[in-house]
Amino acid sequence: SDILHIVGGGMAGSEAAWQAANLGVDVVIHEMRPKVETFAHKTGNLAEMVCSNSFRSDDSEQNAVGLLHWEMRAANGLIMAAADRHRLPAGGALAVDRDPFAETVTAQLLAHPRISVSQEEITALPDNGHWIIATGPLTSAELGAAIAAETGAEALAFFDAIAPIVYFDSIDMSRAWMQSRYDKGETEEERTAYLNCPMDRDQYEAFIDALLAADKTEFHEGETAGYFDGCLPIEVMAERGRETLRHGPMKPVGLTNPHQPDVKAHAVVQLRRDNALGTLYNIVGFQTKMKYGAQTEVLRMIPGLENASFARLGGIHRNTFLNAPSLLDARMRLKSRPNIRFAGQITGVEGYVESAAMGLLAGRMAAGDILGRPLAPPPETTATGALITHISGGADAKTFQPMNVNFGLFPPVHGLKGGRRGRKDRYKAYTDRAKADWQGWLGRTSQNAA
Ligand code: FAD
Repeated sequence: SDILHIVGGGMAGSEAAWQAANLGVDVVIHEMRPKVETFAHKTGNLAEMVCSNSFRSDDSEQNAVGLLHWEMRAANGLIMAAADRHRLPAGGALAVDRDPFAETVTAQLLAHPRISVSQEEITALPDNGHWIIATGPLTSAELGAAIAAETGAEALAFFDAIAPIVYFDSIDMSRAWMQSRYDKGETEEERTAYLNCPMDRDQYEAFIDALLAADKTEFHEGETAGYFDGCLPIEVMAERGRETLRHGPMKPVGLTNPHQPDVKAHAVVQLRRDNALGTLYNIVGFQTKMKYGAQTEVLRMIPGLENASFARLGGIHRNTFLNAPSLLDARMRLKSRPNIRFAGQITGVEGYVESAAMGLLAGRMAAGDILGRPLAPPPETTATGALITHISGGADAKTFQPMNVNFGLFPPVHGLKGGRRGRKDRYKAYTDRAKADWQGWLGRTSQNAA
């Protein structure tokens, strides 16, 4: 049939429904709340914000998430329109009055002649028809099990373990150096896969002290701390013994510091290239529940990272997400069952805004398929395009963890000054290019629809 079924009426599912319906497709949203609850949601509203009430920066010239706001507004996004209508004063950030926001989204969807909402939990993957699964980080247990049965258990995670990610151009290479342990790797790409930051004994001891003292985030009630020995937070490793990290992620073996070839480092922090462009490096094994402020302070104690700027900070959360790079195609379809798309946080993006953006894209793409006018993905120079490119193949499937939008995901603009000094011009060039390319893509799409 020509109906689009959307499972989950959260940030992604609500936006997907709106976009598809406005292109002329009939949509049914299957939402389990309020019949079935999650530990984080409090209401039966669609698009409920489960924690903070912030959509983060609204600066579309200097900030990648602000650019994502801009792109969704330009595409007649429902989530952004409702957020703008219920905006609270918060400086450069877009803070939202959460209850009226969710009530507006719910009312707009219910009033749409092409949209209906069915209150039910979906527990199996459908064999036929057009479907978008947008059940989010707290996908119900039975559906989670059905997805894992289809993808293989290793390809669906229930917790994330996010290591902090640093912009390469903020790393002090007069202290750090590139080398893979025991010089493994033949090609230039393999040899530049790792960066190393050395510590002497005093630096290591001070680092451990700071780690133990730092403010940590607690798990929410009901969000059991089921983490495994393979991905313990660094502060938990440090609590187990002051030397544990030196024998774990900070072991100093198989490496020679070219800046001080005669000095044996007491510990070494390794960073691994996080994207094909080489603009981002993650700190290997450094998943943490330190609060963001404390985290920045502690990590800047690492030699070479004194002035680090972070594309994202570390975390560990209850989070159901797919190994999208191995499972999804560039048009967000499950490769093994192309009648099913995924959208939102379950695809391995993170945050309200990113999730809504992936819903916007999935809704338009699903509608395009139903109307016989398949839609090409947006250019990777746009914020939406950079995200979908990353999760559907730009990221390394073996180490895949959820991602926020950030400029490190964008192809570089050539001919501009690098480093900190050129940053403002560079970000403006990224966002100018993105806006033009997004408008071009939207234009091509609507010609298509006409
Ligand atoms: P959701 O918005 O969670 O929507 C999924 C919907 O699917 C829900 O309505 C759910 O009831 C429904 N559903 C689930 N399973 C089924 C099923 N089997 N059948 C039918 N319906 C189903 N992001 C931020 O940007 N800022 C934050 O401060 C923040 N804090 C968070 C705190 C917690 C505890 C959690 C879990 C997440 C947090 N996030 C935060 C991430 C946030 O959840 C996502 O960014 C965003 O809500 C994800 O959008 P989504 O549409 O993918 O999922």
